[in-house]
Amino acid sequence: MKEKIDFYGYPIDLSYGKGQKNIYLRIHPSRGKISLSLDQKLGKKGALAFLEDKKDWLFQRISPHQVLEDPDYIEGERNFLWGRAYPLKLVQGDKNRVDLRGDDLVMTLKGDLDREGREALLLEFYRSQVKARVPDRLTYWSKKLGLYPKEWRVKKMASRWGTCNPRDRRIWISLYLAQRPVQALDYVLVHELVHFLEDHHNGAFYAYLDRFFPEWREVEESLNQPLARMP
Ligand SMILES: [Zn+2]
Repeated sequence: MKEKIDFYGYPIDLSYGKGQKNIYLRIHPSRGKISLSLDQKLGKKGALAFLEDKKDWLFQRISPHQVLEDPDYIEGERNFLWGRAYPLKLVQGDKNRVDLRGDDLVMTLKGDLDREGREALLLEFYRSQVKARVPDRLTYWSKKLGLYPKEWRVKKMASRWGTCNPRDRRIWISLYLAQRPVQALDYVLVHELVHFLEDHHNGAFYAYLDRFFPEWREVEESLNQPLARMP
């Protein structure tokens, strides 16, 4: 069961589970959307009490200047590519596609496409952008670290930037990284490669990061912030 509530002006997606032991509060890094999942017995009242308790933590991570509503993918709306905001330009054509032309992110549409369709189209563009960038960056970091994945994939992951399976030497990368500066992609690749050496986020893990990617703290901090969609 799902519900949307307003918490001090921030929209929060609530979802209820059956017999769920833990409460999960997430800020989805792609857009700064906030979601909370908890046991249905706790209800909306329990959700609000939990949020009130975690208010300081939450408000430190979001800023009122950041628009947390979903984008509409309409003419002129700013959408992100590799750390830059581009106005969206909608044109008619014979095939649905997105490309960057000069300073515009051009969405070509064959007929009408609803919001979900336009979102899917942009996400596929993001996927192709990340796919195109990864080989170069991964080769660079693999050589530098002496760590080589057997397989990598670009996935639609809204709440994580990357995941890996060290045993299978497999790395998955979020397509939403296309919205961030390329440095963020570099960081995620290094982070996941370092997991080949160390499973956990412990002292040894961070020592590797300090050595291989000294600016990791700032990049991680920026990845925890939603993108600012200025008016
Ligand atoms: Zn990790």
